[in-house]
Amino acid sequence: MNAPSERTWKTVESGPHTLEGALHPVVVKNYGKWKYHKLIKPGVMVHYGHSGDALYTVRAGTPRQNTVDLVRQICDLADQYADGFMRFTIRNSVEFMFAEESRIDPLIKDLEEIGLPVGGIANCVAPIAHTQGWLHCDIPATDASGVAKGIMDNLYAEFKTLEMPNKVRLSTSCCSINCGGQADVAIVVKHTRPPRIDHAKLSTLCELPKAVARCPVAAIRPTIVNNKRSLMVDEEKCIVCGACFGACPSMEINHPEHSQFAIWVGRKKQ
Ligand code: SF4
Ligand code: SF4
Repeated sequence: MNAPSERTWKTVESGPHTLEGALHPVVVKNYGKWKYHKLIKPGVMVHYGHSGDALYTVRAGTPRQNTVDLVRQICDLADQYADGFMRFTIRNSVEFMFAEESRIDPLIKDLEEIGLPVGGIANCVAPIAHTQGWLHCDIPATDASGVAKGIMDNLYAEFKTLEMPNKVRLSTSCCSINCGGQADVAIVVKHTRPPRIDHAKLSTLCELPKAVARCPVAAIRPTIVNNKRSLMVDEEKCIVCGACFGACPSMEINHPEHSQFAIWVGRKKQ
């Protein structure tokens, strides 16, 4: 084993691998030198380089929160058809790239057999983007991934066909902060009313400045109730996001019997 080279202050000790190592060799060879690309059929396109190379791409939708078993199956297909290369798109589709046109149809057959629909390119409904919900967040009205599944189950055909006037990007999120749900059409499942404040508990349980700082619209103010420090909510300003509840359990936004959801749907202005 070679002795490690001497370290200096300029030695780079951390950071990602270079981009090239993750790219298919045909992509590396033609990087920045593509001539044009075209759609072959739903979920399949080809890029032509000035070098004369052709690179075929097959895209398939995934359930987003993938099991280890499914990721292994995807990696096996990458080994079999795409020289060991695959990538996930920002909407969690999986893409396989390779230079042999004859691999397209067998790969599509194998993808469909493991339940991954091929599509998601050009004028279709792209996979829905969603925020974290109960997986990572402490304020959701509901679980965004469940809503995403319900919607995409109903739009399965529109993912695999080319019947939209343009590509349609949907998102769903689970509160009105909408932390990651930017799209052409946004579906927000949110709470319906401002938090109820338990003043008796609040002064002993919560850090008041933390709860105040959590509110995205500055609707929470310090106050005194029964000679104790507490908080009040300006209900005209409150957007019922639930962020304060995440910081302060005495600002309960759910009710065990009376909680409901509001579903808001909006689209980009044309
Ligand atoms: S901030 Fe809102 S939209 Fe984002 S994960 Fe939390 S509850 Fe969902
Ligand atoms: S629910 Fe949201 S907007 Fe309303 S007070 Fe709490 S943090 Fe502020």
